[in-house]
Amino acid sequence: AAKCSGKNRVEFYDENVESTSFRRLDMEKNMRNATNNAFSEFEVVYQPIVDVTRESNPCVGAEALIRWNSGELGLIAPTDFIPLAEYLGLINPIGAYVLEEACKRCKYWNDMGHPDYKVNVNLSVVQLLQNDIVEQVRSVIKRTGIVPENLTLEVTEGLAINDMSRMKKILSEIRALGVRVALDDFGTGYSSLNHIREMPIDVIKIDRCFIIDIGKDEFSAAFVKMVAELAQTIGVHVCVEGVETKEQVDALKQTKIQLIQGFYFGKPLHKEEFDEKYL
Ligand code: C2E
Ligand code: MG
Ligand code: MG
Ligand code: MG
Repeated sequence: AAKCSGKNRVEFYDENVESTSFRRLDMEKNMRNATNNAFSEFEVVYQPIVDVTRESNPCVGAEALIRWNSGELGLIAPTDFIPLAEYLGLINPIGAYVLEEACKRCKYWNDMGHPDYKVNVNLSVVQLLQNDIVEQVRSVIKRTGIVPENLTLEVTEGLAINDMSRMKKILSEIRALGVRVALDDFGTGYSSLNHIREMPIDVIKIDRCFIIDIGKDEFSAAFVKMVAELAQTIGVHVCVEGVETKEQVDALKQTKIQLIQGFYFGKPLHKEEFDEKYL
């Protein structure tokens, strides 16, 4: 789909573009302070994921998404600060904070009468390639008491091929803990379709760019259908992201898509708001 090619996918921070700008220096200073100050400027919000095949309470859990409300710079979108956080290595403490918060929250939902609710946490490639990442995941499970099967880690596929075997090994070790792995933003990266088969994953998340004109664009519709069928063949779940309209939901009914995430069903919510609506 045309919408996918223009997508701004910053895999690694480009230090040449912004390194001398005041905005970048400001952001760096503020980010360092924020991570040193108990992450109080950061918040984790939760966007519901629904199972469209369910009659009652279709909510099956949520994706945890970080928000940064900087005292000095105001609200900054994750797509604006995560590349810099990765470049500075600050994504490791920030990501650990999100992981801990999200696991605690999911355990809370599970204890509050929804033992099947799951939480998805985005893991940057930088985080994933830390030497002790498997140990970190094991220890957060132990600390928070979350059922490992209720935690899904979302990773993206835009990786240099020589890192691929390392990535596969790490993901396999993470899955051995019982934790699930999702391939995020599927269809926008550099990988071949064969990755679906080769990667140790449980869920494929089809990128929003294929959903935007799914009602009108035949390629998008065919792509979603094809991925859904391939996934079913190899026993992997599919979730589509960015569903905003009834028209898109209807178009998806002609596919084998079970899991949907998007503004049509629910926006990312503060944890208290999420509880009010879904607990
Ligand atoms: P993502 O992981 O693909 O997350 C989905 C993004 O799509 C979220 O944007 C969400 O708010 C947005 N979205 C969901 N439904 C709709 C919809 O119907 N319409 C539209 N227009 N957008 C929708 P958000 O929260 O701004 O996050 C953007 C990206 O930043 C995420 O994309 C993810 O790659 C990254 N990110 C967010 N939180 C974290 C985090 O804690 N750690 C890491 N490493 N990355 C994160
Ligand atoms: Mg995600
Ligand atoms: Mg992503
Ligand atoms: Mg995504």
